[in-house]
Amino acid sequence: MAAYDYETHTYDAIVVGAGGAGLRATLGLAEQGLRTACITKVFPTRSHTVAAQGGIAASLGNMGPDSWQWHMFDTVKGSDYLGDTDAMEYLAREAPKAVYELEHYGVPFSRTEEGKIYQRPFGGHTTQFGEGPAVQRTCAAADRTGHAILHTLYGQSLKQKAEFYIEYFALDLIMSDDGICQGVIAWKLDDGTMHVFNAKMVVLATGGYGRAYFSATSAHTCTGDGGGMVARQGLPLQDMEFVQFHPTGIYGAGCLITEGARGEGGYLTNSEGERFMERYAPNYKDLAPRDYVSRCMTMEIREGRGVGANGDHIHLNLNHLPKEALAERLPGISESAKIFAGVDVTKEPIPVLPTVHYNMGGIPTNYHGEVLNPTKDDPTAIVPGLMAVGEAGCASVHGANRLGSNSLIDLVVFGRAAAIRAGQVVDRKAANPTLNAASVDASFARFDRLRHAKGNVGTAELRLEMQRAMQEDAAVFRTDKTLADGVTKMTAIAGKMDDLKVTDRSLVWNSDLMETLELDNLMPNALATIVGAEARKESRGAHAHEDYPDRDDAKWRVHTLAHVDGAKTTLSYRPVITKPLTSEAEGGIAEDRIKPKVRTF
Ligand SMILES: Cc1cc2nc3c(=O)[nH]c(=O)nc-3n(C[C@H](O)[C@H](O)[C@H](O)COP(=O)(O)OP(=O)(O)OC[C@H]3O[C@@H](n4cnc5c(N)ncnc54)[C@H](O)[C@@H]3O)c2cc1C
Repeated sequence: MAAYDYETHTYDAIVVGAGGAGLRATLGLAEQGLRTACITKVFPTRSHTVAAQGGIAASLGNMGPDSWQWHMFDTVKGSDYLGDTDAMEYLAREAPKAVYELEHYGVPFSRTEEGKIYQRPFGGHTTQFGEGPAVQRTCAAADRTGHAILHTLYGQSLKQKAEFYIEYFALDLIMSDDGICQGVIAWKLDDGTMHVFNAKMVVLATGGYGRAYFSATSAHTCTGDGGGMVARQGLPLQDMEFVQFHPTGIYGAGCLITEGARGEGGYLTNSEGERFMERYAPNYKDLAPRDYVSRCMTMEIREGRGVGANGDHIHLNLNHLPKEALAERLPGISESAKIFAGVDVTKEPIPVLPTVHYNMGGIPTNYHGEVLNPTKDDPTAIVPGLMAVGEAGCASVHGANRLGSNSLIDLVVFGRAAAIRAGQVVDRKAANPTLNAASVDASFARFDRLRHAKGNVGTAELRLEMQRAMQEDAAVFRTDKTLADGVTKMTAIAGKMDDLKVTDRSLVWNSDLMETLELDNLMPNALATIVGAEARKESRGAHAHEDYPDRDDAKWRVHTLAHVDGAKTTLSYRPVITKPLTSEAEGGIAEDRIKPKVRTF
C-alpha cells in the first residue's frame, strides 16, 4: 500500500460540515469552551442550506394563536406516525428558543407591522390538534431564509474562535477496535496534503444525498458523505426508503419553487384549469403535506390532465397575487422562474413537477444527536464519540414525511442539542485518544485504490446509471415490480464500483477523484434506499406502494436499519419511540392525541 504522509491536528470536537446544522453545532461547541474545528468540502456559506427559501417553523404565535403542542401534533401526524415521539416533542418545544437565539445572533427576519418576526403558512401546520384552521408558523427572511441563517451562523462561529478547515474533504472516520470514534481523516483539496483530526467527539453534519437521483433540488455537493463514512464502519443507516419529493420543482430544471409560494396564496392547476387539490384535500387544499400533494399531481398527470405539449407537468399560479407582495415576499423565486422557466410570475403560471428534495432517513441518533448502533437487547445503544445532526442524521423527527420548514428548525435545535450534550460528556482535561493505526491505514488504502482505479467504467457514467435507476424505480409511486427491478439494477450497479476507471491520479484539485469518492458515498445511501423500500410492504408517508396502499401499523410501525457492505445490504428493524418526554400532567401532549389515525386532509 502506498503510504501517505499526514499532519495530525488535535481538538476536543470536530464537526464535519458547515451547513446550518454543522455551523450551529460548531458555534455551540465553541461556546461550551471545547476546542472546536469545523471541516468542510465547500466554503461554509456555499453549503446547501444557503438555498433554503421558505422558512423555519416555530410556534411563536406572532400571527395568531399557536402552541408547541400543536406543532408537535402536526409533526407526529406529518411523519405518518414513524417519528420518535421524544425527539418530536424536543423539536417543537425547543423551536421558539432556537429561533429567538437566531434573531439575537442577527438573522434579518422579515417583520410584521408591530416589528415581530413575520410568519407564513406552510403545508400541514394547523391549530387545535388538527381541528382548527391553518396557522402561520413558518418564520421567514423573505424567500432567502437559509441564506440569512447560514451567513449569521458563520459570523457567530468565527466570533467564538472556532477554527475552520475549508475545502478539506473528509474521507473516513477513525474508529477504535471496540467501536469508539476517535476522529476523522481529510484530504486538503487545494494542495493534496492529508490530515488526521484526533478528537474526543466527532459530529457529522454532511447533509443529504439527493444526488443519488437524476432530478433533485439539492446541490451537486449533497452526496451523503456522512452516510458513506458510517456505512463503511459497519454502522446502520435508518429509514432510507423515505425520500421526499417536493411538489414544485421547476419542470426540466429541477430548481425549487418554495412551498411558501403556496403559503402566500399560490395554487396548482391541471390542463383543464381546475384547482384539483380542492378535490383531493378539501380542508388543506394546496397546503396538504408534500407527500400527498406530490401523489395528487402524479395522479393528475397519469390520468391525462397534465399540462404542456406532452401533458407531463402541472401549473403553479401566482399571477393573481399583487405584484408588490410577489416582489416583497417572493423575490428569489420570481427570479428563478424567469431564469429557469422563462416565466414572468406576475403574468403566467410556472411549469412544475414533483422533484427529489429531502432525505427523511439518515444516520440514526437519539434526540441529543448521539449516533445509535441498536442491538436486539439495547435498541438505543450509542456509538461513543460520534454524533450526527441535520439532514445527514435521523433523530427521527420527520419519520416517513417531513413537514415544510421543519428541516431548518431541525438543524438549529439539534445542532444546539448536540453541542449541549458534548459539553456534558466530553472531558476537557482528559488526553486525546491514541489513534487506531489500522483504521487510518484502511482509509488510506481505500483512497489509494480509488485514485489508481484502472477498470472500464468512468465515474460520471456509473453515477448516471445509478441516478437513472433510482429515479425510475424508487419514485413517487412504487410497486413490487419497480422495487424488485430497482434492487436488481442497483446491486449490479454497486458491483461495478470494482471496475471503476479514474483517469487523473494527481492530488491537487482532482475533481475526478473527488467525484469518485462522492460516488463511493452515494452508493450505500442509494442501496439502503431501494432495498429498504422493496422490503416495506405498506404505504406510509413518502413511501407510496401501489400493491400495499394502506399503512400497516401492526407490522410496519418500525424503523428500518440497513447495513450496507459493498453491494450487499442487510436489513433489521427497531421499534419507534412512542412515549413523549413530558406527561400530560406536566403540560405535555395527551398520549391519546398522538395515537396513529388515518391521515385525512
Ligand atoms: C432548494 C432547497 C430549499 C429548501 N428550503 C427549505 C426551507 O425553506 N425550510 C426548511 O426547513 N428546509 C428547507 N430545505 C431543506 C434544508 O434546507 C436542508 O435539509 C438543510 O439545509 C440541510 O442542512 P445541513 O446542515 O444538514 O446540510 P448542508 O447545508 O447540505 O451542508 C452540508 C455540509 O457538509 C459539508 N460536507 C459534506 N460532505 C463532506 C465531506 N466529505 N467532507 C467535508 N465536508 C463535507 C459540506 O461542505 C456542507 O458544508 C430546502 C432544501 C433545498 C435543497
